[in-house]
Amino acid sequence: MNTKEEYIEHEARRRAEYEAQCMRCGTCCGADTDPCANLKVDGAGKYYCDSYDDRFGERFTVSGLKFTCVPIRDVLVYAPPSADCGYAD
Ligand code: SF4
Ligand code: SF4
Repeated sequence: MNTKEEYIEHEARRRAEYEAQCMRCGTCCGADTDPCANLKVDGAGKYYCDSYDDRFGERFTVSGLKFTCVPIRDVLVYAPPSADCGYAD
């Protein structure tokens, strides 16, 4: 890696690979319980966040409960959200 551009490209590729590990099951956003109000599902049944680029911080569930959205790595410190999570070991 010799140039700043190559470094940026490398980091973008690594980030895309990491993001692609997500199965989009929605479990970590409450799909199976009282989901985050920002959690949506597409025509293929895959979940997505409608404010992904600005997701961290105070959020509300569909029923109105307040919680804090945090990076998935902060969740993984304790345990994967589900056995099928793409980030589970
Ligand atoms: S704001 Fe956070 S908890 Fe809500 S859908 Fe987006 S990523 Fe999931
Ligand atoms: S539980 Fe894991 S695989 Fe499912 S949406 Fe969350 S991060 Fe992605």
